[in-house]
Amino acid sequence: MMAKCDDHDFPCQSPEYDDFDKMAREELSQPLAANDLVNLSEYCMMIPVADDFVIGDLNHKIFLKTLKGQSGLYHLWTDYESCDDHETHTMLCAYVGKGPPDARIASHIKSKWPDGVLLYATFTKMNNRLAKYYEQLFLDCYDFTLNKAENSGTRALYAVWDSDRHHMGTHSNEVSGMSKIESFDDW
Ligand SMILES: [Zn+2]
Repeated sequence: MMAKCDDHDFPCQSPEYDDFDKMAREELSQPLAANDLVNLSEYCMMIPVADDFVIGDLNHKIFLKTLKGQSGLYHLWTDYESCDDHETHTMLCAYVGKGPPDARIASHIKSKWPDGVLLYATFTKMNNRLAKYYEQLFLDCYDFTLNKAENSGTRALYAVWDSDRHHMGTHSNEVSGMSKIESFDDW
């Protein structure tokens, strides 16, 4: 029997980022692979964007507070597909950006994120010069619906996360600790 991902032809196992990785290897002495940035990032969380998703005081500000004072490269994602056979979630990237992620993402939620669409954010801390480089390389290689300027890439950028990363994310404990809610067990 074919796995669902084969059947439906969406990237599930080992997504490829060949153009991005080739370019970064040519131009940087210690390049990060796209896989490190989109699938293995230190921060990866679903961020509540609408009142319906907010439980207690768990609004987007608390989810972003764990990133306060940091700066680097971030991506905003939506659900694209899931594969039952491999228990993975394929994500489609809508935006790439750099800077202080807590302020920037909060502003995107206000100004450009579509109503009713679940938002997931990934973030990798790095200095501004490198963040600029990776942001531009992503824009040159891929197409992002919410990046209006200087986006010459044409292909979609997908990430593939396991269920833990998708459902719990990387910072649930920190978010929970900042919240008045005792624990996520209350959900
Ligand atoms: Zn699969």
